[in-house]
Amino acid sequence: MPVYEYEPKNHDCLMCDGRVDVIQSVHDEPLIYCPSCGLEVRRVISRATFKLSGSTPNDKAGRKGFTTFRKAEKGVWEKVGGEGPDILAGTKEDIAAVEAEKAPAKKVLDLDNLPD
Ligand SMILES: [Zn+2]
Repeated sequence: MPVYEYEPKNHDCLMCDGRVDVIQSVHDEPLIYCPSCGLEVRRVISRATFKLSGSTPNDKAGRKGFTTFRKAEKGVWEKVGGEGPDILAGTKEDIAAVEAEKAPAKKVLDLDNLPD
């Protein structure tokens, strides 16, 4: 369970020394009132002392606004992190173009039609 830190909102909290740590589930709503003094508090997000367990580099990229995809099959990429579309699928023409680019270029010398 993560420990969230709260600080008083628009007042000095006399009972909790300015900050109060509350152990909460990540699914709990943030507290509005200080559990010690009952005055309004706000959660200090940056001080939450827990580590996301399924945090992957792709999640981190997503938090920075990047969408990460992995190739699922030929011409289809599925999202592994970020806010972008869940699936990227190329058209048949796109896939053909990519395959054509990958194929080694063949040099054909046509002896009957040599350039001048
Ligand atoms: Zn308080």
